[in-house]
Amino acid sequence: MSLVLSNIRKSYPDFEVDLSFDIEAGKLITLLGPSGCGKTTTLHIIAGFITPDKGKIILEGKRVDSLPPYMREAGLVFQDYALFPNMNVAGNIAFGLRMHGWSKRKIDNRVNELLELIHLPGYNNRSVDNLSGGEQQRVALARALAPNPKILLLDEPLSALDAKLRKNLRADIRRIQKKLKVTTVYVTHDQEESFAISDRIAVMKDGKIEQVGTAQEIYNSPETLFVANFVGLTNTIEGMVSKKKGTLIEVETQFGKLSVKYTENLEPGSSVILIFRPERCSLYKVKGDNNVLEGTITNCEYQGDSTLLELSIMDRRFTVKLSDSAVCAVGDRAHISFSPEHCWILKNIF
Ligand code: ATP
Repeated sequence: MSLVLSNIRKSYPDFEVDLSFDIEAGKLITLLGPSGCGKTTTLHIIAGFITPDKGKIILEGKRVDSLPPYMREAGLVFQDYALFPNMNVAGNIAFGLRMHGWSKRKIDNRVNELLELIHLPGYNNRSVDNLSGGEQQRVALARALAPNPKILLLDEPLSALDAKLRKNLRADIRRIQKKLKVTTVYVTHDQEESFAISDRIAVMKDGKIEQVGTAQEIYNSPETLFVANFVGLTNTIEGMVSKKKGTLIEVETQFGKLSVKYTENLEPGSSVILIFRPERCSLYKVKGDNNVLEGTITNCEYQGDSTLLELSIMDRRFTVKLSDSAVCAVGDRAHISFSPEHCWILKNIF
């Protein structure tokens, strides 16, 4: 079932959601953004709990924005599981099916099928109170999926779990979502989680979508500084486009001329921000890299699988992430070198 949100607007006295996006049938889109950016409000608008002031919601080609929640056939999973404590596991999963008037035999079969799917076979009569957090969330997922919803809506489903469990469960959610090909909207503030689980990601800020794309597009070609910073560490340098040189753009900066691969038509004189990621630069001069900065190492953090260095270059801080342990120390002079292929520019609107 494809889902389209077209020019949806909802205004509160101090906040406004104003956005459009769409999802192809069977795909998973993540709404990713900081606390208070409007992710839950958007999810509740899709579910029908909040009526937008304007805009259309189109599910499988049909407008649903005037339908009450129960007629939208959405499956919901919340952060806090929200299971019914007075019912056992089977009772929880069967809840929606009983509401839909399914026969007992059909319900039993469906419950067993879902318990297999969530890797909890035989848990039918277990009390939900005695389940671990991860197990409770699996049951909540099974309950949401039981009536074959047209769309699955998950609001921070992993935030109450510890880090290891989060990784296991997110892989399971993705496996089940792909197997059932259920169109899914997944809300999270966690960049790593969104990258691991999504077909596409909509990065939100202040009630609006800043960029929609695959994880690779969002990480490697962010369209705004906010997106670049939200999904990873960045180094930024302000500058001015000086000229176009073949496939490169030359940018005049306080560190001299730097080169960036040609992306969009920016006139000479345009004010820009040049951005590169810490893991995309080297700590020595690489032959052919025309972007070299020299400075002093001010901090060195060994992180197990990598080393994070901080350098001071003309009173600006830069970060370099090396995949091996660095043979250098605080106070050493060092070079940062990065290829024009591995940096990009955005128009400087400030
Ligand atoms: P979090 O990750 O913290 O849950 P979020 O991105 O899901 O944040 P929302 O819960 O959608 O954000 O809230 C967005 C903004 O809308 C907040 O500033 C909130 O105060 C405001 N808001 C939400 N509901 C109402 C309401 N009923 N009346 C007034 N303001 C509201």
